[in-house]
Amino acid sequence: MRDADVVVIGAGFGGLAASLRLAELGADVVLCETLRYPGGCASTFTRQGYQFEAGATLFSGLGEGQLFSRWNEAWDLGVRFDLLDPLVEMRTARWSLSVPPDRDAFIERFCKLPNADPEALRAFFHTQRRVADVLWQLFDDPSLLPPLGGTSVLRHLGRSLAYGPVVRWMGRPLSDLIDHHGLTGWEPLRIYLDAVSQITVQAPSAEAEAPFAMAAMDYFFRGTGHVHGGIGRLAWGLTEAIQRAGGEVQLANRVKGVRREAGHWRVDTRNAEIRAGTIVANVLPQSLSTMAEPALNGALSDVESSVESGWGAAMLYLAIGPDAVSDPAPQHLQLIDDESEPFMEGNHVFCSISAADERDRAPGGQRTVTISTHVPMTKLHDLGPEAQGRYVATIQDRMRQTLSRRAPALVDDLKFEMTASPRTFARFTGRHRGYVGGVPRRVGWRHYRPRALWPREAAPGLFLVGDSVLLGQSTLAVALGGARTAEHLATRLSV
Ligand SMILES: Cc1cc2nc3c(=O)[nH]c(=O)nc-3n(C[C@H](O)[C@H](O)[C@H](O)COP(=O)(O)OP(=O)(O)OC[C@H]3O[C@@H](n4cnc5c(N)ncnc54)[C@H](O)[C@@H]3O)c2cc1C
Repeated sequence: MRDADVVVIGAGFGGLAASLRLAELGADVVLCETLRYPGGCASTFTRQGYQFEAGATLFSGLGEGQLFSRWNEAWDLGVRFDLLDPLVEMRTARWSLSVPPDRDAFIERFCKLPNADPEALRAFFHTQRRVADVLWQLFDDPSLLPPLGGTSVLRHLGRSLAYGPVVRWMGRPLSDLIDHHGLTGWEPLRIYLDAVSQITVQAPSAEAEAPFAMAAMDYFFRGTGHVHGGIGRLAWGLTEAIQRAGGEVQLANRVKGVRREAGHWRVDTRNAEIRAGTIVANVLPQSLSTMAEPALNGALSDVESSVESGWGAAMLYLAIGPDAVSDPAPQHLQLIDDESEPFMEGNHVFCSISAADERDRAPGGQRTVTISTHVPMTKLHDLGPEAQGRYVATIQDRMRQTLSRRAPALVDDLKFEMTASPRTFARFTGRHRGYVGGVPRRVGWRHYRPRALWPREAAPGLFLVGDSVLLGQSTLAVALGGARTAEHLATRLSV
């Protein structure tokens, strides 16, 4: 039996980051992944000669001093990052707005939309930024998150005045910020915020916990771009970095169960058994609960119910002709068919088109396109198996309708189409019932409870990372969360 300090389950970005940080800090770490390739929801897979990004397409954390640029410098991840302009173009029936990488330029562009009140808008974004900056400083520096050492407490005391604006918006929905600045009646702001909050904190502005949503609004401006060749290349780059740092990565090696035995964890995998003092599970809490023995006795029930109030994804993977879009065209489109309907079920889609010079991704100069929309899982699970299939097919039809109205170039010269559903995500990435994207950050004080802020330990030496726990959804957030748990563990392991 192989002995290790830590076994990490799952090579999504949470598990990759935890493994790399642990290896950097000198731990003997083994990362087990069930698929033959890393990245999970942020991987690139090949089908019939096309390379598609499975889910996540926009990448963040590449700005100066940020996690991925630090790792790129330290480990030469062998990846080209394209910082795009525009990053995203949002299209509705009445207006479109392209989001440049420069935040001030973005605000000025927003101010030019019909009937905008520039002064109120600038004040709105000023308030938002004060909150976002404080939170991103916490997220970027794990030592400022619990458990706090003496130095961290002193640093917090020194910054206490800066926390005032954050506290003011805690326990309130993002829409309160719109009201506060007298912008309630101006639809473009509500639409923009609903759309951005839906893809970041997974809830529309009237439901989103304001401080988290305000931080997530700056996601586009924090070293965000595209991984040339597909996001999976970055996952491979991290995999190689883990190995070079002394860690071991075992692909195609599913973890079947974990059992507590004589002060250790025994990890039963498809290929072998591993004994470790600590486990970092980068899976959903429901999967960990099924794997663990003795039973976790509800230790993760709060996270499980948050996951169950969340979302799945319906997908279209398309290939379009070489001349279907004329360059330079925006590579990321956020399309809204009907602004008066909820931003899900195909009425709101996120599309990512491969770049013209990503020749490996499709034959004959074609471009690949990954398109996603939110599926409310409570609604899906209220249906029987056949009705579920029909429901997802209806959503996919609505996605095609939204495309034909807002981005007809993506359907007019179609060469290939493949669909996916929550069931597909469950089958490929082992995500319990196909829940993806992270738990919704709906309004409430529970997000600030100690249990929600500490690294999540489900049983002695059994930690949960990934998008169901802090820092939450997105490749950057799960990576920061994984690295932060690794640093916490390193102090306990005395490596
Ligand atoms: C459609 C869609 C679009 C998105 N768009 C973006 C975006 O543009 N930008 C962004 O930043 N984020 C985006 N996200 C969110 C982002 O993809 C996720 O928050 C993040 O990738 C989750 O990473 P994770 O490590 O928590 O989990 P996962 O990616 O799910 O990783 C878990 C890993 O564990 C493996 N696994 C499961 N069970 C086992 C087992 N028993 N043994 C071994 N391995 C196992 C899985 O195969 C998987 O590789 C998107 C998500 C979706 C679904």
